[in-house]
Amino acid sequence: MRNRPVSLLQFLAVLSALSLPLLLGYKLATDLALEQVQRQATQHALEVLHRSEGAADQLYAGIDMLGDSVSYAPCSDDAIMLMRHIALVSSYVQAIGHVSDGRLRCSSWGRHADGFPLGPVGFVTPTGSAVRSGVHFPFAENREFTVVERAGFAAVVHKSHPVDVETHPANVVLATFTPGPNRTRSTRGTVEPRWLEAINGGDAAKFVDATHVVTVLRSQRYQTGVLAAIPLTWLKQEERTYLLRLLPFALATALLLALAVGSIARQRLSWPAMLRRGLRNNEFHMLYQPVVELGSRRIVGAEALIRWKRPNGESIRPDLFIPAAEDAGIVHLVTERVCALISGEARDLLARRENFHLSINLAADDLHRKRTTRLMRDLSESLGGRKGQLVVEATERSFIRPEHAAEVLGALRAEGIPIAIDDFGTGYSGLAYLEGFRFDFLKIDRSFVGTLGTAAPTSQVVYHIIEMAKSMQMAMIAEGVETEEQAELLGALGVEKAQGWLFGKPMPLAELLERVDLQDRRR
Ligand code: C2E
Ligand code: CA
Ligand code: CA
Repeated sequence: MRNRPVSLLQFLAVLSALSLPLLLGYKLATDLALEQVQRQATQHALEVLHRSEGAADQLYAGIDMLGDSVSYAPCSDDAIMLMRHIALVSSYVQAIGHVSDGRLRCSSWGRHADGFPLGPVGFVTPTGSAVRSGVHFPFAENREFTVVERAGFAAVVHKSHPVDVETHPANVVLATFTPGPNRTRSTRGTVEPRWLEAINGGDAAKFVDATHVVTVLRSQRYQTGVLAAIPLTWLKQEERTYLLRLLPFALATALLLALAVGSIARQRLSWPAMLRRGLRNNEFHMLYQPVVELGSRRIVGAEALIRWKRPNGESIRPDLFIPAAEDAGIVHLVTERVCALISGEARDLLARRENFHLSINLAADDLHRKRTTRLMRDLSESLGGRKGQLVVEATERSFIRPEHAAEVLGALRAEGIPIAIDDFGTGYSGLAYLEGFRFDFLKIDRSFVGTLGTAAPTSQVVYHIIEMAKSMQMAMIAEGVETEEQAELLGALGVEKAQGWLFGKPMPLAELLERVDLQDRRR
C-alpha cells in the first residue's frame, strides 16, 4: 500500500537528477554562445570605429595641412601639387581640395572648370566642419562619397570605407551614425532606428533584441557612433555548436546522477519493506556486551544489542536501521523481536545469578506505547530471576514528549523494572525531564568518556555529569571505556560500573555465559 507514493517520489527524484544536468548544460551552452556572439559583435563594432576614426584623423590632418599653407593661392599649381601629395600619403583619403559656394573648385584630381556641386550639408560638427554624405562625382557616378569641409577646404573619403570590412558571419549589419540626431552615415545591411537610440547618451550599449545581437559604441574623439548587429540565426547556430559539444558531458552526468539518486532513493525508501522482510526471515540476532564493576572488574551485567545480518552477508548497523524503523513507525516490531530473541536464549543468564542485570534498549516510540509495559513484564517473567534484574534503557530523545514517556516509564517502575537514562548529555530535550522522573541508572555517553584526560573542550563535562548523578542518587555506568586510564579515572571519580572494548565487545550469548561461568568458578 505504501509503495505507490514511495515509487512516485523515487521517480521524481530520478527525473530531477536526469533533468538537472541537462538543463544546466543547455543553460551553459546558450550562455556561452551568447557571450561569444556578443564578443564578436563588439569586435566588429570596434573595427568600424577604428576605421572611421582613422579616416577622420587623416582627413582633418590633410585639411589642416592645406590650411597651414597660407602662402599658396587656393587653386594655384603649388596648392594642387600639395593636394596631390596629401591624397597620396593618406591611405583613406580619396581626394582633397578647395571649396567655395558649395562647389569643389579644384582638388588633388585637378581643376574643375565650374566646380563640382557638393549638394546640401548633412550636418555640422561641434568644431564647425560641414559633413556631406552620399556625394556623387561625375567620374565615379556609381560610388558615394563623404565630403568633410572646413575653412574652405574639403576632404573626400569613400562613404562605405568604415563598413568595408570582412565579417563573420558575412551578413553582420554595420553602420556609422551621428549621435544626437541619430542619423546613419555609412551602412551595410538594414539598420533598425531603435538600435541607434539604445546608446542614449552613454558610451556603449550591448543587447539582444528580437532579431539581432547588437553592440553600439560612441567615439571618444569624434561625433560618431558605430554599431554592429549579428542576426539571431547565427546565435542559434552557435548555441547548437556548444550544445553538441556539451551534450555528452551533460548526458553522462545526468545518467550517473540519476543512477546514484535512484539507488539511494531505492535504499532509503525501501527501508520499511526491507525491515519487514528481515523480520520475517529472521535476519536479526542479539549480542551482549558485558558490564563490569570498576572496582573488581567482575562482570555484573550485560547490555543486549541487536544485529541485522542480511542474506547477502551485509551487516547493517543498528544506528542506521533503528532510526529508519522509527521513521517508518515500525520500531515496536523490532523491540518485540528483541524481546522474543532474548527470552528465547537468555533464560540461564539471570535465573542463576540474582545480582546480574541485563539491560535492553527501548526506542522513543516504545515509550509512547502502553503495550510496552506488558511486553517488558512478560520478558522479565520469561527470563526468571528476581525483579530488577531486567533493566530498560531509554535515551534522552524519548523525552521529546515527556508526558507520554513518563506514563510508560512510571508503569514500568511500578512493575519493579529499573530504568537507565542512556546516552546522557547527547540529547536535545534539556534536562527538565530529570525533575519529572526518577532514573535508577545514568549511562555516561561514550563521547564524554572518550574526552577524559584530553584537552577537548568537553572533557570537563563528564565531571559535571558525575556530580549530578551523585546528587540525584543515580548509579552510573560509563560507556565506551577503551583504555585502562579511562577505567581508573572513572573508578576514582566514583563511577561504579562500566562497559566498553577494554572489558569486552558485544558478543554472542554463549561467549558471555562462558566468561561469566569462568568468573563464577574462580570465586
Ligand atoms: P547504545 O545503546 O549507546 O549502545 C552502545 C553502543 O556502543 C553499541 O553500539 C556498542 O557496540 C558500542 N560500544 C560499546 N563499547 C564501545 C567502545 O568501547 N568503543 C566504541 N567506539 N563503541 C562501543 P551498537 O551495538 O552499534 O549500537 C548502536 C546503537 O543502536 C545503540 O547505542 C542503541 O542506541 C541502538 N541499539 C542497539 N540495539 C538496539 C535495540 O535492541 N533496540 C533499540 N531500540 N536500539 C538499539
Ligand atoms: Ca544503550
Ligand atoms: Ca549509550
